[in-house]
Amino acid sequence: MHPRVGITHTKQRGTEKVVEKILYGGKHTAVLQILAEVCLHCGERLYAEETARLFEKIRNKLKRQDLSGFNPLGQAFAVDKVWLKKQMQPTAKSVG
Ligand SMILES: [Zn+2]
Repeated sequence: MHPRVGITHTKQRGTEKVVEKILYGGKHTAVLQILAEVCLHCGERLYAEETARLFEKIRNKLKRQDLSGFNPLGQAFAVDKVWLKKQMQPTAKSVG
């Protein structure tokens, strides 16, 4: 978010930096290193139009489960609700 009203990100020159971007599509996640302009005022990342289009393309690929061009990074897990409930129960219960 920008702290000052009336200043648009695009009119301010930020610092060009390679940032890590995480994209979600369906149940999948993809991560990539990409050049962004980081706003000097609020730190928000600004992406070029073609970069934004690329993000959309990647999101759509993830949704379609078209994983060509993506390398596996390990698995993502959803914590099981039953298992979670067990962890939240008070542990002070005596066994006897
Ligand atoms: Zn800003």
